[in-house]
Amino acid sequence: MKVREIFEKKTVFSFEVFPPKKTSSIDVIYQTLDELHDLHPDFISVTFSAGGSGNAQFACDIASRIKENGITPMIHLPCINYTKDEISATLAEINKRGIENILALRGDINSDIPPKREFAHASDLITFLRQQGEYDIAGACYPECHPDSDTLDEDIDNLKRKVDAGADHLITQLFFDNDSYYDFLDKVRAKGINVPIEAGIMPVVNKNQIERMVTTCGASLPRKFVKIMQRYEHQPEALRDAGIAYAINQIVDLAASGVDGIHLYTMNNAYVARKISEAVTGIINYDRA
Ligand code: FAD
Repeated sequence: MKVREIFEKKTVFSFEVFPPKKTSSIDVIYQTLDELHDLHPDFISVTFSAGGSGNAQFACDIASRIKENGITPMIHLPCINYTKDEISATLAEINKRGIENILALRGDINSDIPPKREFAHASDLITFLRQQGEYDIAGACYPECHPDSDTLDEDIDNLKRKVDAGADHLITQLFFDNDSYYDFLDKVRAKGINVPIEAGIMPVVNKNQIERMVTTCGASLPRKFVKIMQRYEHQPEALRDAGIAYAINQIVDLAASGVDGIHLYTMNNAYVARKISEAVTGIINYDRA
């Protein structure tokens, strides 16, 4: 099924998973997918490294397993380190497995890997994909501005180019302050971007994640969030439960505001996804009624 058709019917609730490290067995993620299966997300997306590390096969295998489990898969496709021929080869694999949904991305620029330069922006990939087949195409967006852009206005002008190139819907970068999402939504709608926008929610449930959030993610950390993280930093179970509760609160507020969809960055943690799904499914379903 094409994801854009789901937005026509309901508030979308989706999950994101990532392939395990090459040294780990693929069975680990298969077990996670089997545990996520009865939560009935509207789709599950699979990340794909922009690093040219060649995990396309791995990501396609995982997307195929999602499909076999009766759930709609979406595959992430970063382009900056790939040539058109390499992207075409991946598309052939995607087509062979009957995957219809692609999250078209530029990918992060890594100073150790010179970009291949056939695609400079995600919008170039979207234009290319539109010529290649009848895909459902998602794009990424950044409520608190992509770090490569000087201003949010400039970033949103570029987002408009991406949507005009053919993105059917968008998924946001994670954020912890819902007001940043609401302000962003006002701005993008004012610029004539009318496609559905799913809110990306990342439950922060362990200390490593806190450290990563603080140093790399660029999302603003509201006082309420920082207080919880500081208080429970050294109590793993309390931190996990507080992180789950924080994500649930964010989702309830977003659902009450009529959000188009929630994309849960599961971090391959089926326990956390289950706790959040059990708490919010009724609310999201109520919202769909
Ligand atoms: P673009 O849309 O190309 O934007 C990147 C920058 O270029 C922005 O500053 C934008 O304003 C600017 N820009 C865009 N178009 C133009 C233009 N025409 N002219 C001038 N400037 C322009 N990375 C991975 O490697 N693998 C993944 O699986 C993955 N999954 C992700 C999932 C989500 C939901 C999100 C939000 C991000 C994900 N990323 C992933 C990270 C993403 O690849 C990076 O954030 C990357 O730096 C930007 O990708 P993009 O597709 O948003 O790029």
